[in-house]
Amino acid sequence: MASIFGHALAAYTIGKVSTIKLNPVKLSLLLICCAIIPDADVIMFSFGYPYEHPLGHRGFSHSILFAFLLAFVVRAIFYRKVKYFSKTGIMLFFIFLIATLSHSFLDACTNGGRGVGFFIPFENTRYFFSWRPILVSPLGAGNFFSKWGWQVVQNELFYIGIPAVSLLIVNFFVRKIRNQKA
Ligand SMILES: [Zn+2]
Repeated sequence: MASIFGHALAAYTIGKVSTIKLNPVKLSLLLICCAIIPDADVIMFSFGYPYEHPLGHRGFSHSILFAFLLAFVVRAIFYRKVKYFSKTGIMLFFIFLIATLSHSFLDACTNGGRGVGFFIPFENTRYFFSWRPILVSPLGAGNFFSKWGWQVVQNELFYIGIPAVSLLIVNFFVRKIRNQKA
């Protein structure tokens, strides 16, 4: 995985650049949850499921199907009053989907682990992208506070932090200019 901070920042940025005009704190928190939940699968190690198992780490919870299901469930539970096929309803589903998928995409850009099972349960192959600049993050909070953890922070500041903050700044000024014109 990329670190929990990298995943959270990516999800937060997705929410900020979206055009949804609903409670931004609630939206950001839900997006961050969507981007973090896939790594709850590390618990499967303690149930004896090996990494390569479809339910193992970077398995089903990192798949495209899971992202669709999670986006639907989060949208259905937390935005009951928003109509499914309204513009906002469709956008909500879409950004929860993108936030969840952002996790798998970042993981597929990491330099360690065994790849992401994008197509589980249809196919159990694990995939990486050919560009893998992100240092894989240690599993477990205890291991994060180490030299390895510090290297991950520096690496993610460069490969996730700078692009995300740049996007947020551009988004801020674009909106400001639009509001002035309106
Ligand atoms: Zn992951």
